Amino acid sequence: MSSDDQAKDEFDLNIIYNYFLDTERQGPGSTEATRKALNFIAGLSEKSLIADLGCGTGGQTIVLAQNTTSKIIGVELWPVFIKQFNKNIQTQNFQDRVQGIVGNMDNLPFEKEELDLIWSEGAIYNIGFERGLNDWRKFLKQDGYIAVTEISWLGETRPTVINDFWQKSYSEINTIPIKITQMQKAGYLPIANFILPENCWSNYYAQQARMQESFLQKYAGNKFVEEFVAQQRYEATLFDQYKAYYGYVFYIGKRIK
Ligand code: SAH
Repeated sequence: MSSDDQAKDEFDLNIIYNYFLDTERQGPGSTEATRKALNFIAGLSEKSLIADLGCGTGGQTIVLAQNTTSKIIGVELWPVFIKQFNKNIQTQNFQDRVQGIVGNMDNLPFEKEELDLIWSEGAIYNIGFERGLNDWRKFLKQDGYIAVTEISWLGETRPTVINDFWQKSYSEINTIPIKITQMQKAGYLPIANFILPENCWSNYYAQQARMQESFLQKYAGNKFVEEFVAQQRYEATLFDQYKAYYGYVFYIGKRIK
């Protein structure tokens, strides 16, 4: 790849990140869903350490901070998101026990058995569900918990259009029983799972719809932006049509190995 290509790729990536910078969350989710998942986690105190992996600008991290007394570290690959994350944390006055750091979920800066809870909403797909569960387990204390959301098929069969779209976007997409088995095989006791309600997606797409118009105006004539927006819109249209067949699912487990 020439350095010109690289510069263009970075510029394009920047555009995508800016698109998501002002949304409260960068993936499907809600305060209610985060709180519901947190209710399955026992034993957190002010001595506990939570890691929120792929934390984005911290929509869910703030909910964790509001509903625990624990120390929280948000880890995020994109520095611009972490800057916004730390701003948001400061606005909420949680800076004494919540901190965002730039880091890679593929190479985490934690000690073995240091964490009481690993959280990751709409982000584990970046390294894959199975790999994430397997690689991250060592950082959890024995009896520590993990809570992640992952796109999943809600039944055994589905129309080809939606099957092919998601297989192509994320080949690890699978049914809930298979995901639970993967969790168990990775050394966790599956504690609970629930499907995120539809409003978690509609909020996500509605936030984006607001961005899209101004984005298209700001970058008028930019083919990359036009294609990106068209893709996001297509994904939203598919969701409207095929939401009965797939969803985001919270998977909560406890380290037992
Ligand atoms: N948890 C947030 C953000 C979800 S979007 C929310 O639910 O709103 C996924 C996030 O993962 C993005 O912010 C992206 O920059 C981040 N990410 C992607 N690959 C990563 C990696 N290897 N390590 C850490 N973060 C990563």
